[in-house]
Amino acid sequence: MNKNSEHCNSRDWRGKPYNFFGDYLLDTHHVRMLKLPINAGLSCPNRDGPIGAHGCIFCDAGGSASPTTEGITGIAAQMENARRSFRRSDVATRYIAYFQAFTNTYASIETLKRLYDTALASPDIIGLMIGTRPDCLPDDVLDLVASYNREGFELWLEIGMQTMHNESLRFLRRGHTHQSTRSAVLRASERGICVCAHIILGIPHEEWRDMMATAMELSSLPVHGVKLHHLHVVRNTQLEHMYQSGGVRLLGFREYVSTVCDFIERLRPDILIHRLLGDRPKDTLVAPKWAMHKGTVLKAIEDEFRRRGTCQGFLYTPPE
Ligand code: SF4
Repeated sequence: MNKNSEHCNSRDWRGKPYNFFGDYLLDTHHVRMLKLPINAGLSCPNRDGPIGAHGCIFCDAGGSASPTTEGITGIAAQMENARRSFRRSDVATRYIAYFQAFTNTYASIETLKRLYDTALASPDIIGLMIGTRPDCLPDDVLDLVASYNREGFELWLEIGMQTMHNESLRFLRRGHTHQSTRSAVLRASERGICVCAHIILGIPHEEWRDMMATAMELSSLPVHGVKLHHLHVVRNTQLEHMYQSGGVRLLGFREYVSTVCDFIERLRPDILIHRLLGDRPKDTLVAPKWAMHKGTVLKAIEDEFRRRGTCQGFLYTPPE
């Protein structure tokens, strides 16, 4: 048995070849934990002017809002709607308030505090997850976020890193650089805030080695989690226009499965995997259609790890 096989055999990830966030929550809190998506009605500086007017090429007018928040005004009502759809009388459940749509640190400190406090008002909420851009995290906002940290509470910032390559960030029309991400992650980590980095695999013009370089860069940063997404085309986006005119190639099903395994093999073993695949409602997804079969994709990823005999961190080398 070589050193790397021992690494995989010695892991206790409930039989999974990667360190899954859902299992971590169950092991830590001993109850079913779910996220309640929130659309707080904020905007994004890449849409309303300071950085750009048209947004990232893959983002639609809804700013990645969850269908459970559609047409519902008010944070408490949106959370209750999601809670109702998840409720099971036989299983104890706690929730994480998940500020998902648009940029959830893009407002005054007073406004942000009011929004976060509203979401945390109910005793069954034992976590706060805030989705945002790396260039919207000045020190005073990070101080506010850090003030919610306490024992037994899940405090997460979900930062849209996407890739470590500035050329790709320009292609995606993100309006920030990787240096912004590094700065935000380091300053969040100094304050004890867990960071989940959002990554896109399959950005046009990125080669396999570019994606692997992103995995290694991620492993060198003090991040605690990662959300992997394939590049998908959503209706009414700039990316749809580019795709329909033949200018964009997307990863195929097998290619994605293999790339995800390659990526995770290079990740630090303690990084929690929040997600392995993007998710869109059927009626807004243009391509790729294979992603609609989420269970099949997840199983194929696990099967591929087993076929290789590898796991998360198999090819990770800690710094000297
Ligand atoms: S930063 Fe987020 S909300 Fe803003 S345009 Fe990009 S994906 Fe959409």
